[in-house]
Amino acid sequence: MLNFEVMTLFPDLVRSGCQTSILGRAQNHGYIHVGVTDIRDYSGNRNGRVDDYPYGGGAGMVMQPGPVVRCFRDVKARCSGSLRVIYVTPQGQVFHQKMAEEFAKEDNLIFLCGHYEGVDERALEAIVTDYVSIGDYVLTGGELPAMVMIDAIARLVPGVLGNRESAEFESFHDNLLEYPQYTRPEDFEGRKVPEILLSGHHANIDRWRREQEIRRTLERRPDLMEQADLTEEDRRTLRRLKEEQ
Ligand code: SAM
Repeated sequence: MLNFEVMTLFPDLVRSGCQTSILGRAQNHGYIHVGVTDIRDYSGNRNGRVDDYPYGGGAGMVMQPGPVVRCFRDVKARCSGSLRVIYVTPQGQVFHQKMAEEFAKEDNLIFLCGHYEGVDERALEAIVTDYVSIGDYVLTGGELPAMVMIDAIARLVPGVLGNRESAEFESFHDNLLEYPQYTRPEDFEGRKVPEILLSGHHANIDRWRREQEIRRTLERRPDLMEQADLTEEDRRTLRRLKEEQ
């Protein structure tokens, strides 16, 4: 079981996001747990204030270190086994599938969601093990990034996906994008399903799909190609596709 803990000022947003669909089912079946803790409960004052003006001046407010660290200590006390503390921040390493695979091996992942201008640096120094971003843009808060990461990590935990939803052969698993998918009807407004997929010839279908993966990655994400796990046959296909281009 992987235990996710989210420290946030907007617990309802995280709770509702993690209760639906596959994440909800995974929690009900005990494959994962998502605990959500309101940092405001650790404000130490009656009005629940957790932010203050930045020293040195400047725009916006900063989350104070006290409530964040007190909240963390409580959450940590509930965890046993390996633990990583992730501050979701645009200043972190950009999240990717290999990182999700690595995080999925832990027993506990604690996410700290920032708001306003972010969190007092001293709290971060005291508790954070990993700084992770979901992309080079700035959001209003860390809740959506935390949920994005929880979703990507949870689906790699054994049991979370059934056989019908296997994570094994998807985009990025060997640094290639997945082949195109088709379902019924065979003819949609004049667009036909590629003949080969109706042939029942599995070896040919596998070969066709592999070529589609290489073609698609080359067209849409050529930057991934350099790290793709390619066989000799894949390399021949790649050379041919490049010549066609
Ligand atoms: N002042 C901060 C800076 O320039 O780096 C940005 C603060 S942002 C408005 C508020 C919070 O949203 C951050 O503390 C972080 O938790 C979250 N956040 C915003 N963009 C993010 C991103 N791309 N990835 C992860 N978290 C992000």
